Amino acid sequence: MTVRATETPATAATARTTPPPHQVLLNPGPVNVHDRVRAALAYPDVCHREPEAAELLDAVRAKATAVCGGDERHTSVLLAGSGTAALEAVISSVVPEGGTLLVPHNGHYAERVASIAEAHRIPVRRLEFGWGQPIDLAAVDAALAEDATISHVGLVHHETSTGMLNPLAELGEIVARHDRSLIVDAISTLGAEPLDVVADHVDWCVGTANKCLEGLPGTSFVCAPRSSLDGLSEVRPRTYYLDLRAHHVAQDRDRAPLFTPAVQALYALDVALDLTLEETVAVRSRRYREHADRVRAHLARHGFEPLVPDGHRASSVTVFRLPDGVEYQHLHDRLKADGFVIYGCPPRLGRVCRIATMGQLTTDQISAFLAAFDAALDAPHPTGAATPSTSRA
Ligand SMILES: *Cc1c(COP(=O)(O)O)cnc(C)c1O
Repeated sequence: MTVRATETPATAATARTTPPPHQVLLNPGPVNVHDRVRAALAYPDVCHREPEAAELLDAVRAKATAVCGGDERHTSVLLAGSGTAALEAVISSVVPEGGTLLVPHNGHYAERVASIAEAHRIPVRRLEFGWGQPIDLAAVDAALAEDATISHVGLVHHETSTGMLNPLAELGEIVARHDRSLIVDAISTLGAEPLDVVADHVDWCVGTANKCLEGLPGTSFVCAPRSSLDGLSEVRPRTYYLDLRAHHVAQDRDRAPLFTPAVQALYALDVALDLTLEETVAVRSRRYREHADRVRAHLARHGFEPLVPDGHRASSVTVFRLPDGVEYQHLHDRLKADGFVIYGCPPRLGRVCRIATMGQLTTDQISAFLAAFDAALDAPHPTGAATPSTSRA
């Protein structure tokens, strides 16, 4: 006897999720990806305990290390999860009992670094400079000189909430001079801004697939010297799933992932890393910055001023103050109707909007966006009090 599918209610049987329309993503990740990256998702199914999966993991780890500027002393550990998973794996795994994490704080993601540490009962010292304000390097220097309990510094390289690029090379030099360890959230910089774990004295570098590396969501990584990862046997694990050393041992020594990796996302990341290394970070950075410069120049004519001063801006994200009479939600919705997705900011930044230029965006798409932007501004605005931009990190 055959069981007939039509016995399920017709509504349930036909309720399929329809694919979204093609959209130009001007949000700070996930990004529009290269067709070759998306095509990797359609590779045949594999078992993660077979040699082809081991080869895939090895290849992605080596390429992630290369993008970070690591040398033969370095390796990378892959995690299934978004960037925050890798961040939490590092923070919870490397700060020893009795250590303190110093967080130079100028935005939302610095707060996340501090909050992760606190969730694991790790003492945190926040050095607050104000959102969108530059880090005062002398203050970091003084804190390290004065507080011997500080074992680690947690720096967000690009504070994606404000579009501010923090001074990694200078800060790395200070942390190294004080003989402390530097953890860098490079989640929105790897691929888009110069970063070199050796030259910049980065001890723990955290990256993710779906921002400026132009891969797809689902996988993240930590690049570090092998000796540092091996040395984690001295620190008692605070979590089971995100125990960085356990993942390192499984991937590096046993060549078998600890848990099920995001296999398809890793195939996509493998291609994305090839494309990154072929293009080079210098060229990609220029590509993003050219798009950003066009958007900044165009929006300036409409009275949209960047939140962050020139010289501190990342190539991939700009936060703009909204001129009087322009409302974020209206702008967002008009642009969305034309196929462009812009982004809001955490409410404490007030009346702003955020436009990212990361991912596979063409010059023509930026031109079309600027035309759509003009049309959105010309469209009648709803009357009434302007509301702050939506709560987004
Ligand atoms: C996007 C981002 C993260 C992590 O976000 P996920 O949603 O977990 O990928 C962390 N730090 C910075 C600086 C980011 O831009």
